[in-house]
Amino acid sequence: NEIATMMDVPVTKIISACMSLGMMVTMNQRLDAETLSVVAEEFGFDVEFVSAEVEDTSQIVEENPEDLKPRAPIVTVMGHVDHGKTSLLDYIREENVIAGESGGITQHIGAYSVKIGTGETISFLDTPGHEAFTAMRARGAQVTDIAIIVIAADDDVMPQTKEAISHAQAAGVPIVFALNKVDLPTANVDKIKESLANMNLLVEDWGGKVQSQEISAKLGTGIPELLEKVLLEAELLDLKANPDRLAKGSVVEAFLDKGRGYVSTILVQTGTLRIGDYVLAGTTSGKIKAMQDERGNKVKEAGPSTPVSILGLDGAPQAGDTFQVMQDEREAKDIASKRNQLQREQSVRTQKHITLDEIGRRIALGDFKELNIILKADVDGSVEALTDSLQKLSTEEIQVNIIHRGVGAITESDVLLASASEAVIIGFNVRPAGNARTLADNEEIDIRMYSIIYDAINDIKDAMEGMLSPEL
Ligand code: GDP
Repeated sequence: NEIATMMDVPVTKIISACMSLGMMVTMNQRLDAETLSVVAEEFGFDVEFVSAEVEDTSQIVEENPEDLKPRAPIVTVMGHVDHGKTSLLDYIREENVIAGESGGITQHIGAYSVKIGTGETISFLDTPGHEAFTAMRARGAQVTDIAIIVIAADDDVMPQTKEAISHAQAAGVPIVFALNKVDLPTANVDKIKESLANMNLLVEDWGGKVQSQEISAKLGTGIPELLEKVLLEAELLDLKANPDRLAKGSVVEAFLDKGRGYVSTILVQTGTLRIGDYVLAGTTSGKIKAMQDERGNKVKEAGPSTPVSILGLDGAPQAGDTFQVMQDEREAKDIASKRNQLQREQSVRTQKHITLDEIGRRIALGDFKELNIILKADVDGSVEALTDSLQKLSTEEIQVNIIHRGVGAITESDVLLASASEAVIIGFNVRPAGNARTLADNEEIDIRMYSIIYDAINDIKDAMEGMLSPEL
């Protein structure tokens, strides 16, 4: 219908043009890019496809250097599993590290800031690991200023330590090493420093440029010194932002709270965010109704480098989506819905229009094997973790495609998408909502629900092995 209007021809002519291409379509059906081009050509039109990015250009602000004020560094903690990332983050969160603030932080909102003795502030992303760091980066969010890489001194520089180093370096983020577990008699910091030196990372007390600090995340030893080194590194970076403009930043996490609606933690990177602001975040928008800091205190505004959880968005944006305050509520809504539509069309456009018979035939031929998955979970962290693990199951023979993923219940539109793209639906700690279950039964769509990540991964692995053709 839309393309008919654009070209000013009767919609029936478009439908019969599609039929002559072997496609039975309805008036409201969306056509893929290729079909659009062929059909348009038939009526003497050329199709030009514009970028899927819908941006708000009204906000490209030339920053005046005089308006820039120092801002706190934002830190991510990375390192090998079990080397003490969580312990370090917990210690910093729970203890009054230097400043003697009243009470530790009890809320988990995905990020928190702490004040150091001299009154300086450091903000931490509370999702440790380079996977989370890079997943956010891949979505366009460059949030981290400095990486603390934790290495257990009773162990060694391990594979994930190396990965963390590469990820930080690829992002151009300076590293401060935390040599952890020095309370253990088996700790050997010299061995670690030597391993680092062998990787061209010479620490300061060995005459190099890289900062390192011996700590015990268990006892708290060395942690104030570690944070001072982070601040020193921050000083070199000369971090600044303009607090007197409309806020912009990144989404850290978002989830649906049964009582409060969609709750999103965001990190303001420039400008100041205020209650009542109209926010555009990924494919969601809304007016900010309330804001809270990591201590559960209500706040009215949040300046650069401040994490806050906000209420008022009409959905759950994804971790790593950028957000921005808009002058106009209508415009925020329009851009969000345009992005939504484009996202839907993109996932539809990339699907293989193929029947079950066709899949069977091509699997038998051994030249086509893919498993399409729609993934829904209760929190964004689980979505990211499952996506990562499932995609890693891909082999040379079978490709695992996460064609759609998101936070929230399984909806009718998920089922329709699964039906249109031969996908299975995985629900993690969520269930089908409304008529989704009935529709899935009618469409013979496989919905699988899990509460343990391991079970989900195992089932998919089994399914994939079932799909493998017997060895010849
Ligand atoms: P992560 O996987 O890197 O987040 O590591 P965790 O913080 O979960 O720590 C892994 C294990 O090491 C846990 O059993 C911690 O109690 C222990 N651990 C962490 N830091 C220290 C430390 O400084 N000293 C000692 N002795 N144990 C630690």
